[in-house]
Amino acid sequence: MGSGNAIRGSRVGAGPMGEAERGEAAPRVRVPFWCANMHETRPSFASDAPVPEFWDCPRCGLPAGQDQANPPAPPRNEPYKTHLAYVKERRSDKDGAQILAEALERLRSSSRPIY
Ligand SMILES: [Zn+2]
Repeated sequence: MGSGNAIRGSRVGAGPMGEAERGEAAPRVRVPFWCANMHETRPSFASDAPVPEFWDCPRCGLPAGQDQANPPAPPRNEPYKTHLAYVKERRSDKDGAQILAEALERLRSSSRPIY
């Protein structure tokens, strides 16, 4: 019981603490960026290097900014939509004109000339 030969020396924490990594000369910082799709990417930069304002999202390619609440707006890339809207507008305009013409024609043919 009290022999004094208790096993000592095997305390926890004898191993390496993992804090002595001195491989990198320049410390690096990870800067989070968020794109408009709320993708988060954390590229690392050398701490003495300037951090860019925007970073391309590796997932969707949209520009990402450091402000999560206000990511940079995706570039407007919808010429087709604009063209479609234009065609739609023209068509509806044409339809309107045609409806008007038909109404006028019906009015003229069914009733006496209003002169
Ligand atoms: Zn993204």
